[in-house]
Amino acid sequence: MPDRLGKLGHIGIAVDNLEEAKLLYSKVLGFTLTAEKEMPERGLKVAFLETGNTKIELLEGTTPGSAITKFVEKRGTGIHHLSFEVSDIKRVMGELKEEGVRFLDKEPRTGAEGHLTAFLHPKSAMGVLLEIEEE
Ligand code: ZN
Repeated sequence: MPDRLGKLGHIGIAVDNLEEAKLLYSKVLGFTLTAEKEMPERGLKVAFLETGNTKIELLEGTTPGSAITKFVEKRGTGIHHLSFEVSDIKRVMGELKEEGVRFLDKEPRTGAEGHLTAFLHPKSAMGVLLEIEEE
């Protein structure tokens, strides 16, 4: 595992209808559905699908205030974030903060797959929302 960001863990895709998106990715595009989770505390339903060595996370907002609902309203459905694996999220966050990188999350929190995750501020990553996830 590299010192900082490791391999791409998944690509997050914001959708407005999780059932339709799951059908597209599984039945049409041939991905395998590997996990699904409702996160009412974040106004979120997610599904993970895999093909080859690539994993995607489909995210649907379930409340008007959820970040995904707002994202889809403002920018439409599409790529929402890229998630990279890290071996020690607290160390990597600390090192990146020392480099001037800003985070949306002050502290790592538990993500949909039960691992610790944190999001970098898109302004610190050329407009891309990057997630780091401890593996
Ligand atoms: Zn993610």
